[in-house]
Amino acid sequence: MPVKNRFAELQDEITVWRRDLHENPEILFETHRTAALVAEKLQAFGCEEVVTGIGRTGVVGVIKGKSDTSGKVIGLRADMDALPIHEATGLTYASKTDGAMHACGHDGHTAMLLGAAKYLAETRNFDGTVVVIFQPAEEGGGGGKEMCDDGMMERWGIQEVYGMHNWPGMPVGSFAIRPGAFFAATDQFDIEFEGRGGHAAKPQETVDTTVMASQAVVALQTIASRNADPVDQVVVSVTSFETSSKAFNVIPQRVHLKGTVRTMSREMRDLAEHRIKEICAGVAATFGGMATVEYHRGYPVMVNTEEQTAFAADVARAVSGNCEDAPLVMGGEDFAFMLEERPGAYILVGNGDSAHVHHPEYNFNDEAIPAGCSWWAEIVERRMPAA
Ligand SMILES: [Zn+2]
Ligand SMILES: [Zn+2]
Repeated sequence: MPVKNRFAELQDEITVWRRDLHENPEILFETHRTAALVAEKLQAFGCEEVVTGIGRTGVVGVIKGKSDTSGKVIGLRADMDALPIHEATGLTYASKTDGAMHACGHDGHTAMLLGAAKYLAETRNFDGTVVVIFQPAEEGGGGGKEMCDDGMMERWGIQEVYGMHNWPGMPVGSFAIRPGAFFAATDQFDIEFEGRGGHAAKPQETVDTTVMASQAVVALQTIASRNADPVDQVVVSVTSFETSSKAFNVIPQRVHLKGTVRTMSREMRDLAEHRIKEICAGVAATFGGMATVEYHRGYPVMVNTEEQTAFAADVARAVSGNCEDAPLVMGGEDFAFMLEERPGAYILVGNGDSAHVHHPEYNFNDEAIPAGCSWWAEIVERRMPAA
């Protein structure tokens, strides 16, 4: 069965919602207008239950099938937040908020899940319960984690969860997925080197933190090249190097480094954290200084479970004719927290030939709407077939 006919009919309406969301982007947990709009639509569609304020500004809607002999409950999740980027698309429906932009297509995800909810509430052609989940703060705020921490999975008895992200560079409406580890764990570090500042013409009287920190930046590269098994993935990037001196003739007392670590397994994550601390302490000691390392764990590795991934791929093939094997992605995804709590799968849907996500000229492709909505609806109708 290809794209559902009903979504071809609904595409214009869903596109209007999507463009309205695009014009009104909201960042992190500040998705107040978006959440209110989502809740209002879910009420209008006739959801049995609509609850706001889960994970601060998250929204949950419940849709019951014609019957519930299966006792199954499936969660479908979309993200609602935008990015702190100044939009440069020149679109007629470009962001009206300076410095905020839907540059990751979460406007499209929200609109597509609303479209699927409208269809599912209209038809109810399944045996069980659907929980539609709209989360804030995917872009670094951990809104998905906060919804889980609020007891969402237990409160609605969710048994499996499914998520989707648009992907520029893949043909519009095509799909790609992979089982197992898919998106990376994303951690951050802050390192402060402390030495003894002084006159730049008298280095012998100082402990030069600039030289110390430079050695550390180079030494950190050996985590990937010398400590990790070459067949595993790890990225250690130092992205900020700031000395406490603004003068050309002062050796700084302190240097502050910042950066990120991306890994695909718990073992590699532990190894990277351990080695960063060890290397910085060792390098500082070598030069007579001190290093303080703060390591902050962010999103965990996002892992698709085997059975649900195979099923999600079958549904994608039914909707669009094929489903590619997706490569590993070293970016992070907050849906990882939901997949830590329940089995499920996360899929990529093609966004065509657009600028990549997080670029000021990125735009969600509305032509992907029928395929995305159909995938959601088919997940429900095939996983919980009408009795
Ligand atoms: Zn993003
Ligand atoms: Zn995104």
